[in-house]
Amino acid sequence: MSKESDINKVVRQHLEMEQFFTGFSLKREGVESHVKGGAKSLTPQFIAGSNTESQPHQDDMSINEKIKELEKIAEEVRRCCQCGLGSSRTNTVPGEGNPNARILFVGEAPGADEDAQGRPFVGRAGKLLDKVIKACGLKRSDVFIGNILKCRPPENRDPRPEEIISCLPYLQRQIEIIDPEIIVALGAHAARTLLNTNKAIGQIRGQFHEYYAGLGRPPIKVMVTYHTAYLLRNYSPENRRKVWEDMKKVLAELGLPVP
Ligand code: URA
Repeated sequence: MSKESDINKVVRQHLEMEQFFTGFSLKREGVESHVKGGAKSLTPQFIAGSNTESQPHQDDMSINEKIKELEKIAEEVRRCCQCGLGSSRTNTVPGEGNPNARILFVGEAPGADEDAQGRPFVGRAGKLLDKVIKACGLKRSDVFIGNILKCRPPENRDPRPEEIISCLPYLQRQIEIIDPEIIVALGAHAARTLLNTNKAIGQIRGQFHEYYAGLGRPPIKVMVTYHTAYLLRNYSPENRRKVWEDMKKVLAELGLPVP
C-alpha cells in the first residue's frame, strides 16, 4: 500500500470514529425503510417474567400480541422477588424499545440512574450507547435495549451467579418474542451469559456467535462488543475504533448502510 493511501485510510478511520462518537454528518436517508416494523415510535417500557407459561411463537405474533406479551413479562418483573435484589431496588428495569427490533442490545444490569428511572441505559453509559445507535443511523426507538439483570446490584457490584440464574428466563422470553436478527452483547457479563462461556472478552469480541432461542428455531447472531461503561473508563481511540468496527459488522450483516 502506498504511503498516500495509508494516510487516507488513517484519516478516513479517524473521521468515522469522530462521527461515531459525535453523531455529526450522519447519512440517515433510507435507514428507516430497513428497520423491521418501520420507524414507528414504539417505545413502551417492557419488562419480562419467568413463569413457564407457554407463549405464542414469534412468527405467529402480531405487533399487538408482542406488546401484550412483553408487557406481561414486564409486570412479572415488577412483582419479582426471586433474588435478594428485589429488596434493595427502587425500580425494576425490564427493558424497552421496538418489539419488532432487528437489533437487541443487552447490557449487564441497571445502575443508579436506571434504578431511579426504571429505564435501561439512561445514565452516562446510556448516553454513549445513544451515540453509538445514532452513529449507526438508527434511533433508540428502532432497537430494543435490555439487561441480563432487571434490578440494580448494590454499589453496582458484579451480578452473582444465583441472580443471573433467576433473572435470565425473563430475557430469554423477551428474546423469543422480539426475535431480533442480531443481539449486541455489551461487555463480558452479557456475552458470557448469552453464549454460556467463560472466555475473556478479548477472545470473543468483534465476532459473530450464535444464540439458540429454542428448539427448531434458527440461531440468532450475537455480536460481542465492549460495554459503553468500559469504553467511558477506557476512552482510547483504539477502543472506540474497535466498537465502531463491531457495529459496522452488525450493519453490514443487516444490509443497512454504514453512515
Ligand atoms: N449498564 C448496564 O449494563 N445496563 C444499564 O441499563 C445501564 C448501565
